[in-house]
Amino acid sequence: MDASAANDIDECALSGILSIDLEALKTNYRLLAAQVAPAICGAVVKADAYGLGADRVAATLAEAGCLNFFVAHLVEAKSLKRYLPREAKIVVLNGLLPSGEPYAAASGFIPVINSLQQLNNWSAEAGRHGAPLPAILQFDTGMSRLGLSGEETTALCSNPELLRNVDVQFIMSHLASADESLNLQNSDQLSSMRAIAKRFPGTPVCLANSGGIFLGRDFHSAMARPGLALYGGIASDGACNPTKPVVSLSVRVIQTHTVPEGTLVGYGGSHRAPSRMRLATLAAGYADGLPRSLSGRGAAYAYGQRLPIVGRVSMDSMTVDISSLPEDALGLGSMVELIGQHQTLENIARDAGTISYEILTGLGQRYHRQYI
Ligand SMILES: *Cc1c(COP(=O)(O)O)cnc(C)c1O
Repeated sequence: MDASAANDIDECALSGILSIDLEALKTNYRLLAAQVAPAICGAVVKADAYGLGADRVAATLAEAGCLNFFVAHLVEAKSLKRYLPREAKIVVLNGLLPSGEPYAAASGFIPVINSLQQLNNWSAEAGRHGAPLPAILQFDTGMSRLGLSGEETTALCSNPELLRNVDVQFIMSHLASADESLNLQNSDQLSSMRAIAKRFPGTPVCLANSGGIFLGRDFHSAMARPGLALYGGIASDGACNPTKPVVSLSVRVIQTHTVPEGTLVGYGGSHRAPSRMRLATLAAGYADGLPRSLSGRGAAYAYGQRLPIVGRVSMDSMTVDISSLPEDALGLGSMVELIGQHQTLENIARDAGTISYEILTGLGQRYHRQYI
């Protein structure tokens, strides 16, 4: 084996390449930051930065000027810390589980406090710590997912002592329908948040996710926390999408064949060739984040042609119809596009009957990630 073969082993062994355009990511951050200014723009990098690699993504966002990072779990905060400058803040959206407090306090993480129980636990930790500890207080304004309930809010307001030891940096809530620009739930949640903010005078508000940013100024408050829009996803049905695509995905052809009319294709023989067909088998399946619900519905692209998925998506492969291409257009090792110029994340999500968030976060670990 010569040296160049050894060097190329990575390239040629790859079943697929997930490209992540870090320049586009930076551009998107700057664009969203400009849109919400003078509010601060944070960045949500939970779930390994929506599957794109929190290490590279967070470091890039920090270079673009981001100082506030949001993760879902304490363990995510732990692994993120080493990639960020010292002055960056890491917020744990899901809050802390009992006995997570000492670690969070020692590491300087900022928990979102979602209940009076979590508030008591954090306040007790501050007592042991010997100094007030930072936190973000979340209120449930209509999603019934996380945050202090109306009753808890009233209890807290009538007993401000509960906040002794806790340095409340922001109060926050989460919008349930921010992607639907005309949904009245948005203005309902905004009014609820404004009513709560009156009870915490001087404390800044953090409300908008990506969709919230496109709902307009009223929703920007003091800090926004976009995720999807940073990664080029379309987060609103209203405004045009100003962000650039960040992700593209190409996968390899691992076999091509011509089958006569009547041939069954894939598990369960769910597809019967209506005529002579040329097929290509691709090296990616549902274990690579391409849902089984794409069976007989989605497509790949090559040479600008749509190559429909035929039969069921398997775990590690799927079959596409390449009859529209010249005989020798694709062969062993050729790359076809799954996300890119011809097919957006949203197109795939629609064909799979899901949302772009689920496709993005599912692309996972199996592809080679190439950062541009
Ligand atoms: C995931 C999440 C976000 C980011 O949402 P996007 O729609 O991706 O911008 C913001 N806030 C909270 C509480 C979240 O859970």
